[in-house]
Amino acid sequence: SATKKDMSEWLVKLEHMFTVTPQRMRMIVDGFVEVLEKGLAKEGEDVPMLPTYVFGWPTGQEKGAYLAVDLGGTNLRVCHVELEGDGKFEVTQTKYRLTEEQKHADGPELIDFCAECLGRFVQDHYADDDGNVILDEPLSLGFTFSYPCVQEAIDHGVLLRWTKGFGAPNIEGHDVAAMFKKSLAKFDVPVELVALINDTTGTLIASAYVDTATRAGIIFGTGCNAAYMEKISSIPKIADKGLDQTEEMAINCEWGAFDSSTHEHLPRTPYDVIIDETSNKPGQQAFEKMIAGLYLGEVFRLVMIELIDEGVLFLGQETYKVEKPFGFDTAFLSLIESDTTDELLTVTGLFSHFYSLDTTIKERQFFKRLAQLIGTRAARLSACGIAAIVSKQGYLEDGCGIATDGSLYNKYPKFPERLGEGLVDIFGEKGKGIRTYHAEDGSGVGAAVIAAMTKARL
Ligand code: ADP
Repeated sequence: SATKKDMSEWLVKLEHMFTVTPQRMRMIVDGFVEVLEKGLAKEGEDVPMLPTYVFGWPTGQEKGAYLAVDLGGTNLRVCHVELEGDGKFEVTQTKYRLTEEQKHADGPELIDFCAECLGRFVQDHYADDDGNVILDEPLSLGFTFSYPCVQEAIDHGVLLRWTKGFGAPNIEGHDVAAMFKKSLAKFDVPVELVALINDTTGTLIASAYVDTATRAGIIFGTGCNAAYMEKISSIPKIADKGLDQTEEMAINCEWGAFDSSTHEHLPRTPYDVIIDETSNKPGQQAFEKMIAGLYLGEVFRLVMIELIDEGVLFLGQETYKVEKPFGFDTAFLSLIESDTTDELLTVTGLFSHFYSLDTTIKERQFFKRLAQLIGTRAARLSACGIAAIVSKQGYLEDGCGIATDGSLYNKYPKFPERLGEGLVDIFGEKGKGIRTYHAEDGSGVGAAVIAAMTKARL
């Protein structure tokens, strides 16, 4: 028809939808700061600002051998961490892949599986020649469980809600630490759970162990979240807990939930709305769904689907292979963005190999631009979150370090640079004083350092 848009007209429209201007970013930051403060003031806010019962910074002199279990998004990881002081450490680890079934298995089964893997690891590393594990005292464990938990102590945490596509029933509303202790006892694993930790808090503390400039820990992986150190006197909602008001405590922001019920801050597109509505948790994690690895490929795929329906892409071809929800991995966006050949040969190969689709050069150029738009938006919205913490805490004046981890930060082309540009768009030249860097092994080393800090306070 006469009103049908061609590919370049679509691109103009998409550029408009996905671009976050500096002015818009500064508005988001202002709203974000208010939301962070609200979460500290009272329970039940979108962004729950969870107290972690990790008190203050490590000295860097923490020492000893610890175990760490990390239940993140993709894998279950078990580590042995030897802290040597002076910010030094050694890690030995084993990874166990989680199946989709396990992510949705009955809760106690999932926790049992974690305890069994830990039991096997202990057997492999500590058994004598006769296969017996004989220890003077139980091994100390930091359990990194990276979902929002309401904690009233470091070795306690009630799962508020699953995120990142997990859905195992009978864990939400339960104390995950208590469940884990029960599973350890069931399988006779000679391990004491000392601390339940979020990966963001782990990243914050692991990085601070080696670099005292660290002010926040941020994960850009399957999900997106942040932790930072807050004055206890600035956390009104725990004012009645009898804590020393001169101390500090790490806060797990769970900022992925930003704007979930308000929808007044983020520039959501129709594609973001579809992702939310078709996810296993509609109405939740609005910010995370525009940023994290689990979702960026799906944003890309949904744009493709609309353009297939509009008769703009893949004319005359069978497209059922791209029609599968969540069937386009975010790693493909990385691949598309890294293709520097004139003909975009990697893109050609990707579509023909995985989706049996032929592409024209115009289509491939369109895909590359689309990946840039989606990846850039993710980085610039992430910059808004970082800027909110920096503004609220007054870290801009002297500059600061932001420790990060996750595939999006580590592998997505130009993600760190785009984050940096975003910070300069928000703060001007001073934004350059906010250094982001990859922190080595937050969930392993962080769990160990936190376990050591916890034992030192007992
Ligand atoms: P975790 O599950 O612990 O967060 P990761 O940090 O590896 O682990 O994040 C996994 C997410 O990163 C997945 O959603 C995956 O799609 C995405 N991902 C994996 N490889 C890449 C890549 N090369 N570029 C961008 N995203 C990637």
